[in-house]
Amino acid sequence: MQRRTRSGLETVDQDSARFMTDSTHTPFRWTEPVAHLDGVGPKRAELLKRLGVESAGDLLYHFPRDYQDRSTVTPIAEAWQGERVTVYAAITSIRSQRLRNRKSMAVATLEDGSGAMGATWFGRGFLARALKPGQQGFFTGTVGNYKGPVLQNPEYEITDEEDGALHGGRVVPIYSLTDGVTQRMLRQWIRAALDRLLDALPDPLPEAVRAEHGWPGLREPFEHVHFPADVETGRRASERFAYEELFVLQLGLLKARQERAQSEDGITHRTDGPHLARLQSRLPFALTNAQARARDDILADMAAPRPMARLIQGDVGCGKTVVALHAVAAAVDSGCQAAVMAPTEVLAEQHFHTLHAALTPLGIPVGLLTGSSPAPKQTRSDLATGLVKVVVGTQALMQDATAFARLGLVIVDEQHRFGVMQRAALAGKGRHADLLHMTATPIPRSLVLTLYGSMDLTVIDEMPPGRLPVKTRRIPPEKEADLMGYLRNQAEAGFQTYYICPLIEESEAMDLTPVTRRYDELRAGPLAGVATALLHGRMAPDEKDAVLRQFREGAVKILFSTSVIEVGIDVPQATTMVIEDAAQFGMTQLHQLRGRVGRGMEQSYCFLLGTPRTEQGEARLRTLCATADGFAIAEADLEMRGPGEFQGARQAGISELKAADLLRDTRLLDWARRDAAALLAADPALNAPEHALLARDAARYSELAL
Ligand code: ADP
Ligand code: MG
Repeated sequence: MQRRTRSGLETVDQDSARFMTDSTHTPFRWTEPVAHLDGVGPKRAELLKRLGVESAGDLLYHFPRDYQDRSTVTPIAEAWQGERVTVYAAITSIRSQRLRNRKSMAVATLEDGSGAMGATWFGRGFLARALKPGQQGFFTGTVGNYKGPVLQNPEYEITDEEDGALHGGRVVPIYSLTDGVTQRMLRQWIRAALDRLLDALPDPLPEAVRAEHGWPGLREPFEHVHFPADVETGRRASERFAYEELFVLQLGLLKARQERAQSEDGITHRTDGPHLARLQSRLPFALTNAQARARDDILADMAAPRPMARLIQGDVGCGKTVVALHAVAAAVDSGCQAAVMAPTEVLAEQHFHTLHAALTPLGIPVGLLTGSSPAPKQTRSDLATGLVKVVVGTQALMQDATAFARLGLVIVDEQHRFGVMQRAALAGKGRHADLLHMTATPIPRSLVLTLYGSMDLTVIDEMPPGRLPVKTRRIPPEKEADLMGYLRNQAEAGFQTYYICPLIEESEAMDLTPVTRRYDELRAGPLAGVATALLHGRMAPDEKDAVLRQFREGAVKILFSTSVIEVGIDVPQATTMVIEDAAQFGMTQLHQLRGRVGRGMEQSYCFLLGTPRTEQGEARLRTLCATADGFAIAEADLEMRGPGEFQGARQAGISELKAADLLRDTRLLDWARRDAAALLAADPALNAPEHALLARDAARYSELAL
């Protein structure tokens, strides 16, 4: 057995050695266990599982997360101060040096044929043990000065010259790693997999799709994505894989949707019943056109034998609740129960209040079930016997102990906060129950198509008439006294204010304003005599209830709170929102908070306090002042934070995307969705033999879909 590299293969174990003897030219099957590849073996194959790699083919789909341009190696003698360079050099000495505050630094000397220079790693003294004199490799960093020229905190890769063709002297791929697997190992294994798999690569993309986009085969893009001649080539090649990923995803989602649309095992609700009629005749206002459209979509879904799975998306204050009420009334008219699930107790209680007020006059009993609602046993038993027709609650609804006599409609509010599995658990409580999802979070389109790609979508893009957009202003510290005067005047005029702080209590870890302190300070000082109250998540449920009730009824003028207020609270007389340390909140969160005001006919204001500590924080507040458009804000937010931040994204498989980037690849996503729909139209069950691979991959996503 010949050793081709130093560190990569020197610890080859017996098992993998067996495969090395004659393996170099035998072609591999795509599904060949990765352990059979030179230098991998069972132990490392086990490690690779953590990267989602089990077969040789999987390995090729482990795409670089970045590239590093090592095409130019600079001789040490020509490495100038301030330049970023890659040198190929040997370590001639290395030691650790203690620094102040218990930190340490590794200091090395590097030499190549042309000269010597230092290398320093601040705070990483342990490297003096990890690296050894005599080792050589690539060191990439900026040339600074520490008793002479040094590479500062260089990225390094120890490698002998022999495999320099793979690891240096070129653009090299940088992969996501896991313990025990190095960049070099991955490069070698992927190189080997490419060499031996190429001729047998099964391309999951159908011929027609490939032809249309000009992607002849897999060989070139795989070669280019892993070992590109230049960075640009690598990025272009990754497009094809991003598309493939999105195509398979959309295929899975659309297939699930198609199957649902064709199935007949849903509940056929009646939509001409007495409760629905009475609800409609009692409405104090006319629905907006957008609300009416949403109502019609929902009632048509409910009346059809297929199970409903519809997402209603509409900015805060557009009036989703009244639309949902129509669905509830139709379910009750059909002899079914309806469950409304909210992400927080405060929101569940708010919904309970609204539903209770609207449905009790119709003679429909409504229950509340949260972690702290009274008499949960009684509520559960009333649900099981069917006595309670409508229940509002939190996750408590999904516990095994909750059973329904006949659950026919599940409404999930703000549902991106729930994971897909949670939603599925509630849906499972009613066989084939209709599902209605409502979100006020303006999820960008690319995420909707991915997170909810199997659902039908109705957007409520219209506000009830007479609403004035909320005006948003920054308040510098010297203007805070004026603000207090304003709040006092507003209170005297009968208008109400939310006063939001980022924390409940003082915290050593965070230098932020706690609401308890502000509440005490302001009502003892500038706001003395004004009817104020405090509401936060650590209060007892009945205390919270009482405070909310007083605020709703107008007895309390200024409500001090935290972001528990963020979702769903609906008090039309509240016209002012004050947010302290505003930059501490996320942008969509600020938009939600702001959405608590501007619900009546009066001009409302949102005042943002505090000086942002970061450029990003500054940018968030600027965007918020500039626009009231929730979608624009969500797009900007996504751009700043990335899609992983959206809760539920992981379960929905978004974080699994290896090549695609939902922000960057919106054009590819549109193509993928269109092409997937066309393919399904031609081969609805994906039965054609040439679609077998696709069918298998897409099924993974169908399972995730609702
Ligand atoms: P959302 O849940 O979409 O944020 P809500 O359902 O809480 O909004 O409605 C916001 C407010 O607007 C409520 O006070 C509601 O009564 C009122 N409203 C809803 N639809 C209309 C309408 N068509 N005309 C006038 N007011 C409406
Ligand atoms: Mg709402």
